[in-house]
Amino acid sequence: MKQNFFSVLEKAKVSSALTPEDLVTLLSATEEQIPQLMAAADAVRLQTVGNQVHLRGIIEFSSYCSQRCCYCGLRADNKQIQRYRLTPEQILDTARAAVETGYRTLVLQSGEDALFSEQHIAELTAEIKKMGVAVTLSCGERSYETYQLWREAGADRYLIKQETADPALYRCLRPGHTLQQRLQCQHWLKELGYQVGSGCMIGLPGQTVETLARDLQLMKEMHIDMSGMGPFIPHPQTPLGQNHTGSVSMTIKMLATARLFMPWLLLPATTALASLHPQGRELALRAGANVIMPNVSPEAFRTLYQIYPGKLNTRNSMADYRAEITTLIEKEGRSVALDLGHSMLPAFQS
Ligand code: SF4
Repeated sequence: MKQNFFSVLEKAKVSSALTPEDLVTLLSATEEQIPQLMAAADAVRLQTVGNQVHLRGIIEFSSYCSQRCCYCGLRADNKQIQRYRLTPEQILDTARAAVETGYRTLVLQSGEDALFSEQHIAELTAEIKKMGVAVTLSCGERSYETYQLWREAGADRYLIKQETADPALYRCLRPGHTLQQRLQCQHWLKELGYQVGSGCMIGLPGQTVETLARDLQLMKEMHIDMSGMGPFIPHPQTPLGQNHTGSVSMTIKMLATARLFMPWLLLPATTALASLHPQGRELALRAGANVIMPNVSPEAFRTLYQIYPGKLNTRNSMADYRAEITTLIEKEGRSVALDLGHSMLPAFQS
């Protein structure tokens, strides 16, 4: 029997113990019901993780990738894009500038680039840790030993999204890989003491509301600390280039439902959402988000990391961009966090 949206919403305001049917009901909110879903998520966000927004500066250090993910403009088969690889000096200079600008977490992100050796990444991590910030790595599927090496070098967090909880869809999206392998990486990372970021794309071909509900369940089962969820934006130079763009409304519903279901989450207002909607970041912040991840890569390279087209970018200096985002956050009645912004999950588990 179909559940009533308002009775499920009342339940969600006081309990995160939501069933799969509850999640489907919340994700099926009509356009008129979305503001109420957002308000409930925003209230839970305020009660649980507070008013602060965490800024994570992303350094996209290599756009080379050996993988062939069907949704990604950086896939190895795409010969039309201009690739780049920052030198270790450029990476460390960028990190220093970001720290001076006030960033307390830096994210090192790249495609799966074999020329950047594991040892190189460990050395960079150790150097950036000396700057007194938290370090997140986002460098794909690696061996247990590699993750261990990077953890020992000081990495605090690792971002490796599940992308979809549907194993068959996952196989189509990432040829030669399985969802199981992805989850194995998340298990290893948790075992090694990383805070783990997952996430999914919204609006993938063949995806249903039930699949999205399963995405949220899987993240909760995996004890995920952070979830980056953005609309799918098709890249014309990929096999999925002719598919539809994911919807802003469904993305907002996923963010709000995630906040109600996993109150501890570090939940980014994603760049993908901001690229699709001029007020994407503001809408996400009103729907339970508490993280923004500005691109702090050197300006000459900012437009080249083309996972999807039309990615929101700025020509502003790093300091001006941070000031712009701070203003946006403050206009929403929020404040920029000054601490390292670690996961709140352990507090919820104790
Ligand atoms: S999603 Fe990541 S692993 Fe896949 S092709 Fe793009 S950069 Fe490479």
